[in-house]
Amino acid sequence: MTGSIHTEPQAAAKRGYVYIAGAGPGDPELLTLKADRVLRGADVILFDDLVLPQMLEPYKAEKIYTGKRKDAHHFAQDEINQEIVRHALMGKTVVRLKGGDPFIFGRGGEEIETLRQHGIGYEIIPGITAAHGASAYSEIPLTMRKVSSSVAFCTGHPVNSIQVPDTDTIVYYMVASNVHDVLDKVAASGRSGETMVAVVQNATRYNQRVITSTLDEFRKREKAVYSPALLIIGQNISQYIEENWFSRKKKVLMTGEAPKKYPPADYITVPFPCQQVAGADLGAVKACIEGIDRFSMLFFQNRFAVRYFFKYLFEHGRDVRHLAHLVICTANRSVASALQEYGIIPDCCLDREGVDAIAAMLRKEELTGQRILLSGAEHVDELVAGQLREGGNEVTPLVVYVHGAQDQVEKIDLDFIDEIYFASADCVKKFRGMYDAIPARIAVTPADERTAEEMRRQFGG
Ligand code: SAH
Repeated sequence: MTGSIHTEPQAAAKRGYVYIAGAGPGDPELLTLKADRVLRGADVILFDDLVLPQMLEPYKAEKIYTGKRKDAHHFAQDEINQEIVRHALMGKTVVRLKGGDPFIFGRGGEEIETLRQHGIGYEIIPGITAAHGASAYSEIPLTMRKVSSSVAFCTGHPVNSIQVPDTDTIVYYMVASNVHDVLDKVAASGRSGETMVAVVQNATRYNQRVITSTLDEFRKREKAVYSPALLIIGQNISQYIEENWFSRKKKVLMTGEAPKKYPPADYITVPFPCQQVAGADLGAVKACIEGIDRFSMLFFQNRFAVRYFFKYLFEHGRDVRHLAHLVICTANRSVASALQEYGIIPDCCLDREGVDAIAAMLRKEELTGQRILLSGAEHVDELVAGQLREGGNEVTPLVVYVHGAQDQVEKIDLDFIDEIYFASADCVKKFRGMYDAIPARIAVTPADERTAEEMRRQFGG
């Protein structure tokens, strides 16, 4: 019997694939598992205004912002469609990531139309729409037995086509400056002035704000801009309690990585751009990894230095055996445990916090005349380098990450913050560059004594 010979099909031009996915309303944990999976596999992510850049941090894809931020190029919908198609035709896996759900005021329908025209394969992944996020995080049930048996999602924009459907609950999207126009229409449709009204701004985010009132009372309020915000109308709002579960959660501004004492179950952490970013001197990294034999010792000051060093080591096709000849030392126990995740037990490690003990540690271990590679950030920590140099050691700093070079510099509104955690003296300086003072109400937690000292220097007290 002759077996058939299996040949590869004629190499057809590889076509990309597009996922139109919802990112949810803001809380990064409200992303679906499925969206997370496709984002991990994506080559390109096209994201819009309502998607917080911090959500994209874990994904290695090329990230293209297609929103309307003032400083960036404004993409018209046509251009976005073309951009999706362009990447797909290059054979890439594209995720078009939209705030909330792609099919609720998300123009997802228009995007798939274009994909159909070009014969590009796609899937749609739903997201938690703003109405559902706002409802859950402000304790406003959208339906409720005996109170509300129907709900409608409407848009407040453009003003001349605002609809007021005859449902018990109405949720208006796109109500930044036009809340009063919408409320006038609602009143004109015959609803009682006692009808309950709520504006939920920044739903599910650390700075969520809920304003409740009656229809009549709200119409007397001064006009204001709320964005992004939803307007909810209906008697189910009387259930709302000012102190809802989300407002009671402690919000911590987190510089650097959250240490274990802030479990996500108990805290809402608000990331502050410091220490979490890649941005190595790639040429120097390559030279050091290839010429690793020139060094006799490797020193890691913190977990980021470890994480990024190994990222680049692996990217250059090497593993830990490449480091076998080196003496490996760390600044403290937490760095040592980060190293252990890579299968390395450091040769020496400081027992307590405080870089001023490094020189003594090296002396004790008889590490003199070493050629030390110091993995770290763009500003060489002279205190550490100086300590390492004692005993005739030669120190070569290597930049494997940079401090907070994220383009996202959305200023955090400290009014919503209960506590600030400073991961390092550098983070204190970075923070000081953006804020003149820390309101007395806010608790401040420094990671160690050096950080505390920098806090006193920058903010007094
Ligand atoms: N596809 C999105 C809606 C896009 S339209 C979704 O399903 O949620 C943009 C409008 O959504 C905004 O004007 C605002 O009314 C609403 N919105 C989006 N995110 C919001 C949030 N976190 N809080 C309040 N409103 C939000």
